[in-house]
Amino acid sequence: MSNSQQSTTSDKGTVLAKDAAHNTDTTGEVAKNEARLLKKKAVVDQRIAAATEERGVTILLTGNGKGKSSSAFGTMARALGHGQQAAVIQFIKGRKETGEQLFFGSHPQVGFHVMGHGFTWETRDPEREKKAAEQAWALAKQVLSDPAVHFVLLDEITYMYKYGYLDEADLLAALAARPAHQNVMMTGRTAPRALLESVDTHSKIANERHAFASGVKAQVGIEW
Ligand code: ATP
Ligand code: MG
Repeated sequence: MSNSQQSTTSDKGTVLAKDAAHNTDTTGEVAKNEARLLKKKAVVDQRIAAATEERGVTILLTGNGKGKSSSAFGTMARALGHGQQAAVIQFIKGRKETGEQLFFGSHPQVGFHVMGHGFTWETRDPEREKKAAEQAWALAKQVLSDPAVHFVLLDEITYMYKYGYLDEADLLAALAARPAHQNVMMTGRTAPRALLESVDTHSKIANERHAFASGVKAQVGIEW
């Protein structure tokens, strides 16, 4: 592609062509880069044009790295900023009250529920946990059928299937039948295969390094 061709293709092309004129050694490289950029842009433009469907999505965050729940709460903040109604159901209750509960729990656009008397990392009582999981799921099901709720966060829900407290078929059915505009985020280190295969977006956060491994104590505002 010649420089004169570039200057007519895009604004960016004009700038690059001018830059190239100042440095004759790299003209060929600049032209090649420009061609590559334009090709990439054409592909992206094509994809943007093809993505015409408007509907809510299901997003699943798994993996052993840090950042699943905090990313989901960050996305909820995004939805709230746009005036949307949100609901959070936390399927694991930590020993400490979390910053997210303190912050979002009193937010007028958020319904916040932490599974009561149930699953914690510290104590295990399968019978009580199952009952608590079922109660939390009953609430989740209600939210998943409420068109007024735009954003749903089912935090740590995947453990309920790992421990056999809830039936994954019920979750898949509720997700499939939810209001068309509703977005749902789910977190947990591992997830049932059927869920992994059915969600619209799945990101797996890898643990490359965590401060805890080098002896740094868990701290308020970062861990809870
Ligand atoms: P966060 O809530 O910070 O986004 P998460 O949801 O990705 O974390 P969980 O598996 O729910 O991770 O664990 C929550 C807690 O465990 C957090 O305090 C987090 O810092 C800690 N944690 C997460 N990943 C690791 C890890 N690889 N090693 C040690 N601690 C971790
Ligand atoms: Mg988490």
